Amino acid sequence: MAAWDLSAQLDGIKQQQLYRSRQVIEGPQGAKVTIDGLSYDNFSSNDYLGLANHPKVAAAFKRAVDDYGVGSGSAHLICGHSRQHHALEEELAAFTGRERALVFATGYMANLGVIAGLLSKGDEVLQDKLNHASLIDGGLISGARFRRYPHGNLTRLEQLLEQSTVEKKLIVSDGVFSMDGDQADLKGLVSLADKSASMLMIDDAHGLGVMGETGAGIVQQQGLNQQQVPILMATLGKSLGTAGAFIAGSEDLIELLIQRARSYIYSTAMPAAIMAATRVSLQLCQQESWRREKLASLIGRFRDGAEQLGLQLMSSDTPIQPVILGSNEAVMSVSKYLKENKILVGAIRHPTVPKNTERLRITLSASHSEAQVDRLLQVLEGASVD
Ligand SMILES: *Cc1c(COP(=O)(O)O)cnc(C)c1O
Repeated sequence: MAAWDLSAQLDGIKQQQLYRSRQVIEGPQGAKVTIDGLSYDNFSSNDYLGLANHPKVAAAFKRAVDDYGVGSGSAHLICGHSRQHHALEEELAAFTGRERALVFATGYMANLGVIAGLLSKGDEVLQDKLNHASLIDGGLISGARFRRYPHGNLTRLEQLLEQSTVEKKLIVSDGVFSMDGDQADLKGLVSLADKSASMLMIDDAHGLGVMGETGAGIVQQQGLNQQQVPILMATLGKSLGTAGAFIAGSEDLIELLIQRARSYIYSTAMPAAIMAATRVSLQLCQQESWRREKLASLIGRFRDGAEQLGLQLMSSDTPIQPVILGSNEAVMSVSKYLKENKILVGAIRHPTVPKNTERLRITLSASHSEAQVDRLLQVLEGASVD
């Protein structure tokens, strides 16, 4: 049973400094979080608008539990699809300027369900190398021929499309890349999809809420309609502060996914109360544009300060601000130093990111104060990052 020596496998992971463990958070998400009774400035969450613990969102959740109970009882196609699910789908479609939307329990499941639901053996999927793991996994389980192009390299994508003899092709990209914070060249992707008669799917998990005038994300910011970006995916657990995800697109797309997306069909619907809470956070997202303005100003403040310190930033104007350290050891030691100074940041190692680009993943939120950002910079200065 040497092949099943689990503890040897764990030792191997530890030796490569790749061992992962969880920290237990007490109390709500926010600009500060509590661990073991100690309070930390939190620069590691995706709660970009500060809605995860908003009193109106929490109140809507509680009210809906009174009206709908807790469990949804079954999958959507049996008896789990409540009035709250339905209403949120209609609101998300209107928000993103699409005909329909379909809510999934997680973004991971949405991406698996869509790609594997639409493609099969003999088809082709073309993906940016830095796409989120759920998009990659969806491509793999679909059985379609898998082509990856170097990050952002549309010249290479164009070559791959020209070489392809496959009729049914799907181009898939993150809108905002989750570990780099940079944006895909959406107009370039739209034009290549058009030229090659391919379908285009954009995962806007990190753009929704943050980008665009009312927070409808990268497609709103760039003015791209349903015909140009026919498959739009985004999550509810990041800027909107709740949980889940959705796909938005044409009537036919959504109806087909209801027939074909296995991760949708064979999984219990989320509690109605999550949907009710999300409807309120969606309203706050649209109405309170000061959250996006404050976030933009904090992003600018962080970047200016970090540049003065000579930190190696990436070309990101989103809330995701990676600081490249270049090895697992450096990432672990600097993030430990930050934690000793009561600051939490994401420590991102290989294989989540390519070797030698191991990094701190600092994320900003509208709930941070300027003083918190200034203290983060001070502590980074003392961390001997170079
Ligand atoms: C977070 C994320 C997902 C997965 O969404 P979950 O709801 O957390 O499962 C998918 N794609 C991208 C780009 C993400 O950042």
